[in-house]
Amino acid sequence: ILPQKSIEEVSKDVQKWATQKKDEIESLQENERFRKEFLSNLAHELRTPIFTVQGYVDTLLGGALEDPNVNKKFLTNASKGIDRLVQLVDDLNQISKLESGKIPIIQESFVIQDLIKDIYEELSLKAKEKNIHLEFKKGTERPIVVYADKPKIHQVLVNLVENGMKYGYEGGSVTAGCYEMDEGHVYVEISDDGPGIGEEHLPRIFERFYRADRSRARNIGGTGLGLAIVKHIVEAHNQTVTVRSKLGVGSSFGFTLDHGRTS
Ligand code: ADP
Repeated sequence: ILPQKSIEEVSKDVQKWATQKKDEIESLQENERFRKEFLSNLAHELRTPIFTVQGYVDTLLGGALEDPNVNKKFLTNASKGIDRLVQLVDDLNQISKLESGKIPIIQESFVIQDLIKDIYEELSLKAKEKNIHLEFKKGTERPIVVYADKPKIHQVLVNLVENGMKYGYEGGSVTAGCYEMDEGHVYVEISDDGPGIGEEHLPRIFERFYRADRSRARNIGGTGLGLAIVKHIVEAHNQTVTVRSKLGVGSSFGFTLDHGRTS
């Protein structure tokens, strides 16, 4: 005869089972909440540039096409709206690939400062327009070799430097610092002396579509996906990204990488 469970034991099993199911349901509900929020954000982000384009095209069709003083300007603005849509679709595509783990991380050794110099070069025209100085933190110029996926770290750095330029003040600066840490890690930091981000926003700043100052950020013209992409790429390297910021002082975004070897 099999030993039978006591009523207390059976009741404990049932309780355990019920707690487990409750957790599962809560996690499904949370996923569903995320999904709904994502879709509603996405619809909103798509609507803004579509309305812009539609507005200009309708005005042109309504007669403005005949007016040489405005038609070129309206077409240029419509075209900017389309650029924004294209950027949004590209960013979404990249996020979805990163989230599904479809993009492999292919690591190689390279000097991180050389990559930053290349990026400063690529962005020099944009920087000049806003009179932003792109520089290195003094004392961190000594070449450091990292082991990482170069094109993806390129993207991380472009997103961070561009944000520093976009949100920074005219005549301000964006500064890169590269530091060797113990246990084979390197720390890379991109700082600016812009307006900074309020403390209450920092915990959510890496979320898709999260913006510290919605109307201002949208005017500046980003997709709200740049930092989410940064976080995905850094975490795909099993590394971490952090932010420090103070209103009126500036912001610093830092991430770790593996130390590489010189061949
Ligand atoms: P966006 O495309 O809006 O720039 P991001 O994901 O790159 O999206 O950034 C999210 C939000 O974080 C921005 O909308 C902005 O409010 C804030 N932010 C990011 N970088 C900076 C910075 N260097 N200085 C001030 N605010 C920033």
